[in-house]
Amino acid sequence: MERTLSIIKPDAVKKNIIGKIIDRFESNGLRIAAMKKILLDRNTAGEFYAIHKERPFYNDLVNFMTSGPVVVMVLEGDNAVKKNRELMGDTDPKKAQAGTIRADFAENIDANAVHGSDSLENAKNEIAFFFTQTEIR
Ligand code: GDP
Repeated sequence: MERTLSIIKPDAVKKNIIGKIIDRFESNGLRIAAMKKILLDRNTAGEFYAIHKERPFYNDLVNFMTSGPVVVMVLEGDNAVKKNRELMGDTDPKKAQAGTIRADFAENIDANAVHGSDSLENAKNEIAFFFTQTEIR
């Protein structure tokens, strides 16, 4: 059993498709162990994406992630990290396989509907970034 962090990004929240995205997770064997809807401030978004600080798209990414509320979730299940990445599809929605969340619901590489941890180690850190132990059930 693994846990991973998922974020429904501002574009998908604005489109009112939180439920459609959550259905992809629940229909594919992932369970929501924690969830909250929050508006990220620039410091929090910047710290969360600190790994991308030197990349040319960092500022756009922070601008986008603070442009509206997000839904942050802990997903739990067998191979949760990999399974979530498969359900999400490629970072660039144009390259994402049909039937994935990004292919079906995202517009472009900036506004790509969801975030998902890319390794078990990052998942642990990202979950601890947003949730305390008692909030995960
Ligand atoms: P992810 O793990 O699939 O979300 O992708 P990354 O960790 O590589 O990048 C984090 C986020 O930064 C992505 O989800 C995109 O929103 C954004 N991003 C990544 N690469 C690019 C890029 O080349 N251009 C732009 N504008 N945004 C990017």
